[in-house]
Amino acid sequence: MRTSQLFQNKTVFSFEVFPPRRESPVETIYKTLYELNGLSPDFISVTCGAGGNGGSDTVRIASEIKKKYGKEGVAHLPGMNLSREEVLKTLQNLLENGIENILALRGDPVPGAAPRSDFKHACDLVAFIREHGDFNLIGACYPEGHTESADLASDIRYLKDKVDAGVGHLISQLFFDNRSFYSFLERASAAGIGVPVQAGIMPVTNKKQIERMVTLCGATLPQKFRKIMEKYQDNPIALRDAGIAYAIDQIVDLIAQGVDGIHLYTMNNSYVASKISAAVSSQLS
Ligand code: FAD
Repeated sequence: MRTSQLFQNKTVFSFEVFPPRRESPVETIYKTLYELNGLSPDFISVTCGAGGNGGSDTVRIASEIKKKYGKEGVAHLPGMNLSREEVLKTLQNLLENGIENILALRGDPVPGAAPRSDFKHACDLVAFIREHGDFNLIGACYPEGHTESADLASDIRYLKDKVDAGVGHLISQLFFDNRSFYSFLERASAAGIGVPVQAGIMPVTNKKQIERMVTLCGATLPQKFRKIMEKYQDNPIALRDAGIAYAIDQIVDLIAQGVDGIHLYTMNNSYVASKISAAVSSQLS
């Protein structure tokens, strides 16, 4: 099933997982998948390292989600460091494994490796995949603007180009202040972007995670969030529980405001995902 069809009937609730680190066999994630599937998400997406080989582990895990649980597995595909031939090979692999949903991404430069020029922006990859297969394509969007964007207006213009190239729905970068997501939705709608947008929510459960995240994606940390993190930074259990409560608070508000869907960055932590699911599942209809 194409994930873009899910939005017709309900507030979509999905999870994101990442393949195990290189030194661990791919099967080590299967227990987590079993636990996450028990929480009845609408789909599970699987990330892919931008420097990878087209993501054979990503395809394998997405395929396991589909074959074992009958759930849609979405494969992330960052194109910046891939040639056309490598993308075609990946598309073939996806097809053979029954995966029809792709999160088409630009990806980021890999230190020490010159990026290829075949897919300079995600919209180039979207257009290429459209030309070479019948996949359902998803795109990334940035409520506070992508870190490389000159301004919010140009970021939205390029997002509109990406949607017009053939993206059926969008998943947002994480954010901690729902107001930034609501004003993004207004800008997107004013620009004529009409596809469903899922809000990306990251439950912050440890101090290292916060520091890494802020460096990587530049998300604004509201005062309320900072206070919680400062107060509990030396108490891991309290910090985890406060992070879960903060994410639930965000999601409850987003659902009440009629958001199209929630995409939970699970960080492969099924305990955290289960606490959040238990608190919000009755509101997803
Ligand atoms: P684009 O849509 O190409 O946008 C990147 C920048 O280029 C933006 O500033 C945009 O405004 C600008 N731009 C776009 N088109 C043009 C144009 N035609 N001319 C000039 N400027 C333009 N990365 C991974 O490596 N693996 C993953 O699995 C992964 N999963 C992700 C999942 C989600 C939900 C999100 C939000 C991000 C994910 N990323 C992942 C990170 C992503 O690869 C980076 O944020 C990357 O820097 C941008 O990717 P994009 O697809 O949004 O790029």
